[in-house]
Amino acid sequence: MTTIINNNVEKKHIPLRMCIVCRKLRPKQELLRMGRSEDGLLHHDQKRTLKGKGIYICLNNGCIKEFLTGKRFRRMHLNRLSGDLAAILQQISENQTGMKGEPQEREQDDKS
Ligand SMILES: [Zn+2]
Repeated sequence: MTTIINNNVEKKHIPLRMCIVCRKLRPKQELLRMGRSEDGLLHHDQKRTLKGKGIYICLNNGCIKEFLTGKRFRRMHLNRLSGDLAAILQQISENQTGMKGEPQEREQDDKS
């Protein structure tokens, strides 16, 4: 059984979005989209149901951790997460799923 993955398929224009943390441009589908509701709460907004500008973040542990803990996001009031968004981010950062980004420091197992 052979599986041939055709990499030569020319893709149409891929919309790129910028991660708010590392500011790298990535295809939309590699990013998590968030949106702010009227009360200022951030929601997971993959389907673009919220009005206003989306906020994007890489689906990787590094960016998510930085987003959750970084002071600059707190200042932007981006730390007000809805329950669903918080759960999703938590899940991703725990599982460390998503694409392989830049090599990061190895996780230290010993929590002292
Ligand atoms: Zn990022």
